[in-house]
Amino acid sequence: MRKIVIAGNWKMYKTQAESEDFLRGFLPALDATPDEREVVLCVPFTDLSALSKNLHGSRVQLGAQNIHWEEFGAYTGEISGPMLAEIGVRYVVVGHSERRQYFGETDETVNLRLKAAQRFGLTPILCVGETKQQRDAGETESLITNQIKTDLVDVNQENLVIAYEPIWAIGTGDTCECKEANRVTGLIRSLLSNPDVPIQYGGSVKPNLIDEIMAEPEIDGVLVGGASLEPASFARIVNYQ
Ligand code: PEP
Repeated sequence: MRKIVIAGNWKMYKTQAESEDFLRGFLPALDATPDEREVVLCVPFTDLSALSKNLHGSRVQLGAQNIHWEEFGAYTGEISGPMLAEIGVRYVVVGHSERRQYFGETDETVNLRLKAAQRFGLTPILCVGETKQQRDAGETESLITNQIKTDLVDVNQENLVIAYEPIWAIGTGDTCECKEANRVTGLIRSLLSNPDVPIQYGGSVKPNLIDEIMAEPEIDGVLVGGASLEPASFARIVNYQ
């Protein structure tokens, strides 16, 4: 059976105090969450240690939003796998379109970061997805195929989550139609050697859409930006029907 993984991506939002406030509102809702659902919060680096102290006894897993491929070194502004693992981080988002678009992330550096995450015992959440322009040009399939093949060279598919995140749907309110998200997710699965890799959908996931999204057979969870920032809204997503 494939694992269900529901992850929030806070991007560059929330101070430590705000993250603790969020937990106070959010954690009680997890009493209603079925055990088999993995709930992950991928938060800014400064929030990680504050949250790790407050998550004991809860079922929320901690996630980071980036990882460098070296264990340590002169890489100003970067963070390493051992630094994340030491404070209880279990997941890390790799290759988010905002990293690719604004910070020069390439398929080659994404591949290095994926392998580093696994080397240090973390589960990477690999993000792939096409722009509106690529979709309109009929390039979605070739783009996704190329990203998956290049990003996953020598990556262990036993410890991996993939998020299909069409770039035009991220932060725009323009959610991908469920059947189409299911179709592309199925395409991604057909490219994998391990068919049990959980594949999420991400892109303007909102509480009112979650039941429909999760009813799609190929979709094993969601990666949620904006709607993960507010406790009630993320709770509704985690507790989808
Ligand atoms: C994301 O940050 O990966 C994302 C999908 O954001 P949003 O849900 O706000 O579109």
